[in-house]
Amino acid sequence: MSKKISPVEAVQNEIKLACEKLGLDNSYYELLKEPERVLVVQVPVRMDDGTIRTFTGYRAQHCTIMGPAKGGFRFHPDVTLDEVKGLAMWMTFKCAVVGIPYGGGKGGVCCNPAELSKTELERLTRSYLRAISPIIGPEKDIPAPDVNTNAQIMAWFMDEFSKIKGYNVPGVVTGKPISLGGSYGRVQATGYGVTVAVKKVCEVMKMDISKTNIAIQGFGNVGSYTALYCSKNGAKIVAVGEWDKDIGTYALYNEQGLDIEKLFDYKAKNGTILNFPEAKRISLDEFWALDDVDILIPAALENAIDENNAPNIKAKIIVEAANGPITPGADKILAEKGITVFPDILCNAGGVTASYFEWVQNLMNFYWTVEEVNSKLENILIKAFDDVYGMHKEANVSLRQAAYLVAIKRLADNMKLRGWV
Ligand code: NAD
Repeated sequence: MSKKISPVEAVQNEIKLACEKLGLDNSYYELLKEPERVLVVQVPVRMDDGTIRTFTGYRAQHCTIMGPAKGGFRFHPDVTLDEVKGLAMWMTFKCAVVGIPYGGGKGGVCCNPAELSKTELERLTRSYLRAISPIIGPEKDIPAPDVNTNAQIMAWFMDEFSKIKGYNVPGVVTGKPISLGGSYGRVQATGYGVTVAVKKVCEVMKMDISKTNIAIQGFGNVGSYTALYCSKNGAKIVAVGEWDKDIGTYALYNEQGLDIEKLFDYKAKNGTILNFPEAKRISLDEFWALDDVDILIPAALENAIDENNAPNIKAKIIVEAANGPITPGADKILAEKGITVFPDILCNAGGVTASYFEWVQNLMNFYWTVEEVNSKLENILIKAFDDVYGMHKEANVSLRQAAYLVAIKRLADNMKLRGWV
């Protein structure tokens, strides 16, 4: 087993490699190796029983040379400063790959939202906002939903910031409900974007999407919309991996292809896909090792593909829809097996790009149709894919490294122009 490295170290390794490959001197690495700013805050909350509890909250902002920081905040018991810093750094490169004018941001509160009532959750959100309010705002840093945070939490967040300012500031946060300035297409955007990537993958790998078998781990927001749009484009979704509170991990398999619209309806009715009738239930180990899969899409969690399951994977292509679904050790194994990996910072950037559209619409007070959102999204993602694929061929590096090269070159060019180096 290789040594477990921290999220910050993992991104630092990518930055170092990219700077070397681009022939950039150490000054660029120095500017990129840590967030520009990290705020650690105490978040006091009055609980329903009248007592006060304090939680620890964080917000990190990394390299804002392109624009304000952008990135979600999560409520989770495992939130740490290192994780928040690493995820903020990731966001800088994701935004730079797609060329949207943002730096990287991330935040979180170390808490267990399952133990909080709705009113406690609201007070926690408002208290966290007040604690980080000096460093956020539409021109400074624009948070968004992440693990265990949703449109309702964004609405409270926006409301509290607007109260501090004395006027409505919808552009302080994205992922809001549509009626409060959210954007059409935002909910589906990450899966829609993964599908744009899958279509480009088929083009460059000379595959016909209508003859392509796909397996997706995770049927949450990203996985379900990826399955829906890929199947609408003719792909056969032969397997979906999931997790259930009673039985743990499992997968649904149907060699003829799962009917994704029926699977959506089933989940809407039952809250789970566990007993979906038109499929065979297999284990997640069997799911990873399926031999009739052309493209495997991890869309659930970080580190889903590790040194244990990577050797069993038979698919020739992996499209990363989750953030960081492949451990560095597994990445090496996959490369040795000749499996081509299309990286997360390219393939799942549809979400942050649609968030960018939400912010633009908030600043203009002028709102777009879902068709306008999707067509703008597609243009940006296709260009990003072509840029990364072109770099992969030109520099003869992995697609992951190519994505970092594209991103870091853009940041470095601006550092030079602005006289930072
Ligand atoms: P989600 O919570 O809606 O869905 C995750 C799904 O994965 C759930 O259905 C859950 O049951 C399932 N799951 C959990 N553990 C599993 C396991 N071990 N095996 C199989 N399935 C498992 O989350 P999401 O918003 O779809 O995000 C998924 C991933 O995509 C995360 O890594 C997230 O950071 C990333 N991402 C999300 C967005 C977005 O817009 N939502 C944008 C970019 C990246």
